[in-house]
Amino acid sequence: MTSHHTPLLKDKTALITGASSGIGAAAARVFTREGARVVLAARREDRLKALAGELRAEGAEVEYAVCDVARREDVTRAVRRAVDQFGRLDAAFNNAGYGAGRSPLHEMADELYDEIMDVNVRGTWNCLRAEITAMLASGRGGAVVNTSSVGGLLATPVAAPYVASKHAVIGLTKAAAAEYAGQGIRVNALAPGTTRTEIVTEWFAANPGLEEALHQATPQPRTAEPEEVAEAAAWLCSDRAGFVTGATLPVDGGFTIV
Ligand code: NDP
Repeated sequence: MTSHHTPLLKDKTALITGASSGIGAAAARVFTREGARVVLAARREDRLKALAGELRAEGAEVEYAVCDVARREDVTRAVRRAVDQFGRLDAAFNNAGYGAGRSPLHEMADELYDEIMDVNVRGTWNCLRAEITAMLASGRGGAVVNTSSVGGLLATPVAAPYVASKHAVIGLTKAAAAEYAGQGIRVNALAPGTTRTEIVTEWFAANPGLEEALHQATPQPRTAEPEEVAEAAAWLCSDRAGFVTGATLPVDGGFTIV
């Protein structure tokens, strides 16, 4: 039996998208602490470079790839970086996402719809295809975690394209899980509740009373910390979640049960 002292992701190579801030940056710290070699992917190179430097100083094996997940060739390059540098891809946390622009559905700009779908749905699609291709090539299987949201399980207010995109992420997760289970590839999704990242901190600052209102609607009446979401991703990526596939795990303090 695996000792509980064995780091969760020992000897694993993992790709983390959206690693330049928020949940993705927290995941970079959790994954490397748990023994993974990681490739950090996002568009802001300065942020990736700084985080990679910080983690390397702690002894972690870290590479980064500048990558817009909406662009197939960028994603292919990021996955290739993992295979070239570390020999294979064992795990991927597809966390890059975009959710700006709250307005009623009938007033929402078409451009915003396109932008959200491009990052959240096409981005997840591009990642799944490149990652699964690499995992099939290694012959060792693997684990993928896609990032949905509580907005992928129910309709959160004035965010129709975001809600649709995060429901689609769950659909892609189930489809991929069913198709590749026989080849040892597990695919799951996370549904985080409101999590204290930069964007959410700004959103709370611009909307007095919102944080308290959200807490009132949450059985555990607080905002999640990015590390709490990252911990769930690390577990789903690990062999200790060996019989979990096609699942969507809420990390929401009970928001979706009431
Ligand atoms: P942040 O805005 O802090 O981080 C988003 C990350 O995604 C950044 O690293 C950003 O990097 C990256 N990203 C955005 N667009 C692209 C793109 N086209 N290509 C590559 N990377 C991209 O957000 P969070 O950490 O809060 O969110 C992370 C995920 O969690 C998202 O999928 C979000 O929808 C989901 N989520 C968050 C919740 C919250 O309350 N915070 C709640 C539920 C779900 P860069 O700009 O450098 O490319």
